[in-house]
Amino acid sequence: MNWNRFRQPDLILKLIGDLTEYKKQVKFMEVCGSHTMAIGHWGLRKLLPENIILISGPGCPVCVTPATIIDSLIKLKSVTITTFGDLMRVPGSHQNLEQARAQGCDIRIVFSPMDALKISQDRETIFIGLGFETTIPGIAFSIVNAAKNNNQNFSVLSLGKLIPPALDALLDDKDLKVDGLILPGHVSTIIGMMPYEFIPYKFGIGGVITGFEPLDIVLGVKTLIENLDHPRIMNEYSRVVRPEGNQIALDLISEVFEITHAQWRGIGEIPDSGLKIKSKYADFDAFRKYDIKTSDLEENPLCLCGNVLKGKILPPECPLFAKTCTPDYPIGPCMVSSEGSCAAYYKYER
Ligand code: SF4
Repeated sequence: MNWNRFRQPDLILKLIGDLTEYKKQVKFMEVCGSHTMAIGHWGLRKLLPENIILISGPGCPVCVTPATIIDSLIKLKSVTITTFGDLMRVPGSHQNLEQARAQGCDIRIVFSPMDALKISQDRETIFIGLGFETTIPGIAFSIVNAAKNNNQNFSVLSLGKLIPPALDALLDDKDLKVDGLILPGHVSTIIGMMPYEFIPYKFGIGGVITGFEPLDIVLGVKTLIENLDHPRIMNEYSRVVRPEGNQIALDLISEVFEITHAQWRGIGEIPDSGLKIKSKYADFDAFRKYDIKTSDLEENPLCLCGNVLKGKILPPECPLFAKTCTPDYPIGPCMVSSEGSCAAYYKYER
């Protein structure tokens, strides 16, 4: 793939020039944290006409993981815990995983659940299975693999979350006024277009699936504007996303997981937005194996991550942004994760 094709300044500026003909104010939400990062990285928020406003959404899996999970994991002293690196510095109630590791807990960063599976060959290992539909098939595959090899050392703490029910819950909030959604490219690779079809019917707005290159994103914005009067779900990432999604990945997910309610940090409980491991694979369910509980935690009242994730404010509107809350000393998860909106604004948009 020649990525330069999607980074041609002339073409991008031509599309942006076309957008200046549109004069009404519109607000679109980029649902996915990777889009927030890409928009910041390419300076698109500043290049777009001022009347076209992009706000960030809930699409950062680390940011929406409840802090009490981190507290519970830190208490498990006799087990090796494996996780994606992003979670290491997310604040728990008293400590983060990085600090717990410094005090002797065996916590290791892995790049995939299959790395965790390897580690479990000679020790009891939990993989922290957080992510959206993009990551979940790989986690399901690791569980099927562990079951096939009767690897009783391996278990997964299933924190997988689903994007369409979260969008349903967010858009139901009358305070959130958006004119369209930039839908997540990676998630859509797995689920396709169908799971978003309720959005135009229920909320009267359209959505466009786009990739992560600057041309993808600007084209997505143009497509949303051109279809404001005929809201529907559109695919501007057809080089990767098929309308029906990836059936093999979807089958793998439904083999291992069933839908359940889930707690989203900063947002609250969203019905049918989480995945738990089916009883068929109970031996690999860390929640059951180690009796791990989630409970409500009083978040730092000064951190406005919840409002950032719900698209109600932009990160610089948080009084702590870039003052007491920075990537080196994060107060909330949105400043830690590589997909967090506050981290993106800190890095690119100050
Ligand atoms: S700037 Fe920091 S404290 Fe404010 S919302 Fe973002 S993460 Fe939370």
